Amino acid sequence: MKTPRFLASMSRWIDSSAAAEAVENPEDQRVDWVRALPFFGLHLTCLAVFKVGWSWTAVAVCLAMYFVRMFAVTGFYHRYFSHRSFRTSRAGQALLAVWGSAAVQRGPLWWAAHHRLHHLRSDQPPDVHSPVQHGFLWSHVGWILSRANFPTNLKIVADLARYPELKFLDRYDTLVPFLLAVSLLGLGGLLQAVAPGLGTNAWQMLVWGFFVSTILLFHGTGTINSLAHQLGSKRFKTTDESRNNFFLALITLGEGWHNNHHHYPQASRMGFYWWEIDLTYYGLLALEKLGLIWDLKQVPDDVLEEGLLDAPEAPAPVPGTAVPAASAVAQPVREPAQVVG
Ligand SMILES: [Zn+2]
Ligand SMILES: [Zn+2]
Repeated sequence: MKTPRFLASMSRWIDSSAAAEAVENPEDQRVDWVRALPFFGLHLTCLAVFKVGWSWTAVAVCLAMYFVRMFAVTGFYHRYFSHRSFRTSRAGQALLAVWGSAAVQRGPLWWAAHHRLHHLRSDQPPDVHSPVQHGFLWSHVGWILSRANFPTNLKIVADLARYPELKFLDRYDTLVPFLLAVSLLGLGGLLQAVAPGLGTNAWQMLVWGFFVSTILLFHGTGTINSLAHQLGSKRFKTTDESRNNFFLALITLGEGWHNNHHHYPQASRMGFYWWEIDLTYYGLLALEKLGLIWDLKQVPDDVLEEGLLDAPEAPAPVPGTAVPAASAVAQPVREPAQVVG
């Protein structure tokens, strides 16, 4: 017997593969309101700041949780799982996946699959989060709530889907966020007990450290799908409307160099030149120094030179900062695949 839609949607709050027989129609762009209830609920929880109050400790933890998880979204979900722009061990890969899962932006396979499809048809009608095609609101938030976009397209992430640990994290994509929320609750209780001078407590840490931080993180990340295809400059003549935007690069730790990225998505860096601040890339260099990751793919010299041709306003590059040419790197996927549940 087919599971009623609302029951299938509710069970997928916890197990994203639940009610497998109730397969979504990949053409059905209607919002799944029941499935999306936790997303709206998460926004409402931010109102609890009026109940729990604030402290400098809570605000600091909120910002720290924002940037630590933004780094995971950009460095791992995007540059590793979506583009394979560096390498790591299998254990390292699992660690990156857990860290990324803490961002509450679904699992690594779901994230990478949608992003690879975005590159394959950027700003064309099938691009599910193109502001050019579907408007600002849909590209920023609407697309993640639609029935068509809840499932993970495993075909397009076949290179990742062969790892059961990644499939597990993708299937139970609320597990790591739940554990993080409980940990923050415990941390707040501990701080209240051992360091009352900090003026915080369990509920304040949960609300600021998890709820507020997660919502800021979601909308910060969302600007790359919406604003970074509308506001800013085009260093490269790409076939889409991707833009370079310094402000977006700051709040997303480097993702704002989005036109650079669409022109050469294989690279581990998005700020191609020394003046294009890309904090995620610097973080990845630190992880490379620690031996956790390696083989960071670079931008070829001819691409760097091409990018300077039509940018007379850019400052002259400092000699010696050009990165060495990378070996030819194929994009992880080339053919769009049909969305499957
Ligand atoms: Zn894009
Ligand atoms: Zn990308």
